[in-house]
Amino acid sequence: MQSPGCGNPALAWASSPFTVILVSAYIPIDLRSQIEQADRGRCCYCLTQTVNSGIPLCYDHIVPRSKGGTTTFENVCLACRSCNEFKSDLSEASDPLTGETASLFNPRQQHWIAHFAWSEDGTRVEGLTPIGRVTVLALQMNHAMIVVARRRWVSSGWHPPDD
Ligand SMILES: [Zn+2]
Repeated sequence: MQSPGCGNPALAWASSPFTVILVSAYIPIDLRSQIEQADRGRCCYCLTQTVNSGIPLCYDHIVPRSKGGTTTFENVCLACRSCNEFKSDLSEASDPLTGETASLFNPRQQHWIAHFAWSEDGTRVEGLTPIGRVTVLALQMNHAMIVVARRRWVSSGWHPPDD
C-alpha cells in the first residue's frame, strides 16, 4: 500500500458533498464517508477549508503508518496539503518554550480549542500548550503564504471558523 500523502504520484480524485479529497492509498469508502462527515471539509490541524483554499484535502494518518498507525477512523483525519507534508512521519517534536518533547496534536483524541487559538487578527494559529506549540512549529502552520491567504479570508468574513 502506498503512502496517503498528497505528494504521492498515484493520486485519484474523490468527491463528496463536503469537499474534494486527494486519495492515494486504499481507504474503504465507508471510512472515507465517516471521515468526511466528521471533519467537514477542513484541515483538522490548521482548520483551512477547501472552500477557501480551493485545494483538495488529504487523508492524514495521525500516527504515521511507519510507526504502526492504522487505517481506522480513530487514526485518519483530513489535513491540508501543507500540514500533511510538513507533518510527514512526525509524531512528536521539541517544545520551543521548554525544550521538552511533546506529542503532536491528535484531532481524534484532543480538542482544537484546548491547544490552539487564533491571533487577534485571525491570521495566525497560536499554540496554547506544549502539544499546540510543537504542532504549530512542526507543521509550519503560520508559513508566510498561508498568513497572507488568511488575511484575505478574514477580510471577506470567511475566517476564522466559528467553531
Ligand atoms: Zn492544515
